[in-house]
Amino acid sequence: MPLAKLLVDSPVGRGVTKAMGLPQPSPLRRQAPGEPPLDGPLLLGAAAGGRLASAVTASMSEVGVEVVTADEGERTYAALVYDATGIVTVDGLRSLYVFLHDSLRRLGASGRVLVLGTPPEDCVAPGEVAAQRAVEGLVRSVAKEVRRGATANLAYVAAGAETSATSTLRFFLSGRSAYVSGQAVRVRGGEVGVLEDADRPFDGRVALVTGAARGLGAAIASLLAREGARVVCLDVPAQGELLTATANDVRGIAVQLDITAVDAPRRLARHLTDRYGGVDVLVHNAGITRDKLLVNMDDKQWASVLAVNLDAQLRVNAELLAREVLRPGSRVVCLSSQSGIAGNRGQTNYAASKAGIIGMVQALAPVLGRTEGTINAVAPGFIETEMTAQMPYAAREMGRRINSLGQGGLPIDVAETVAWLARPGSGGVTGQTVRVCGQSMLGA
Ligand code: NAD
Repeated sequence: MPLAKLLVDSPVGRGVTKAMGLPQPSPLRRQAPGEPPLDGPLLLGAAAGGRLASAVTASMSEVGVEVVTADEGERTYAALVYDATGIVTVDGLRSLYVFLHDSLRRLGASGRVLVLGTPPEDCVAPGEVAAQRAVEGLVRSVAKEVRRGATANLAYVAAGAETSATSTLRFFLSGRSAYVSGQAVRVRGGEVGVLEDADRPFDGRVALVTGAARGLGAAIASLLAREGARVVCLDVPAQGELLTATANDVRGIAVQLDITAVDAPRRLARHLTDRYGGVDVLVHNAGITRDKLLVNMDDKQWASVLAVNLDAQLRVNAELLAREVLRPGSRVVCLSSQSGIAGNRGQTNYAASKAGIIGMVQALAPVLGRTEGTINAVAPGFIETEMTAQMPYAAREMGRRINSLGQGGLPIDVAETVAWLARPGSGGVTGQTVRVCGQSMLGA
């Protein structure tokens, strides 16, 4: 065991870190195949006039969750859900405060708080806009107050999108969102009535994952395959051996290609059309870092990071869209980064590329929307990978700790978030950037 891990994970190490005043991280409950999404009942509250209580009950009962609407005052809950869509005034916010005030102490370890609201931009009366926007401040603060691996998130569900919310409800109300906290996402129209198998939503779908030889890409490929997708794993020829190993593991196909090559988009389009007649899920995960302070950075370090992390994604998307390789209802998920949101010393090139991704998904969402497709970004914070294992001890320990969950995430946490956005039933979520960062204090 490396010294740093020993310091944090052993009983002696825990004593040392405690003495240093560092918070002790709680183990996070993650989704294991075949296990129920929650390990206890869900308490559902609603403001008068709310629109979503029946959608929550139907979506969660169907996957075996006990939904309780009358709190008996002594049970421990695995999730607290409040339908705040009926709140139209600042006074009305009191019902949300009372619900959480009375129940939060009985939220179990790795519990989930999920508040449902109406997108403030869809409201007209200033009081209603203010009240719905206020919910975000409350939820982000609750996320900082909950303990023992619990999370709090907010889903703004537009009027008329109630039936499109199922995949989002099931993501946030399960071990799949273990490292996602303090987020506000929006669910809009999307396709209604998409029937997907809860365990194998990607059955019959083809997914392409770039940078799949190792790290997050390998974890994403593996989860998509486990949930039914036929996965095309792409990486540079220099990673050929690892790539073959990943592709074999997931019973997928290995494609050796440098995505920055001039003809890469065309070759990829041809491969996907000839072999599969198109692609349903595209995960732009390949990425590199070439860290240097801006004043010390050379042209090559600047250009290579922009080329791999941003320009290649733009070019591939343009080609696959122009040649209609992305099938109707396709899902594109792009890896951004917390650095792209907060900026990071020594990473001007990387942060620029990852912030560019956020702009790209906003710009392409309406384009994909013409064929019922979506495009979103996932912005990881500190994830335990080979890349972060190379960081100096102090920086690593700091990166791992400065978030509400007090620990780094795992590749599976990123993979689960990608898989949620890639699901056929997630058509109501598009143009957004979701952070997988344990509610990092950076760039909040
Ligand atoms: P990694 O270095 O382990 O894997 C990246 C993969 O991309 C490698 O296999 C690499 O060969 C491949 N790749 C690089 N250039 C390529 C090219 N031109 N063509 C094809 N493939 C190429 O990195 P990771 O930690 O798994 O990160 C994956 C993604 O997540 C990256 O986009 C990264 O920026 C992002 N990210 C990671 C973290 C983290 O904590 N690990 C945090 C934020 C964002």
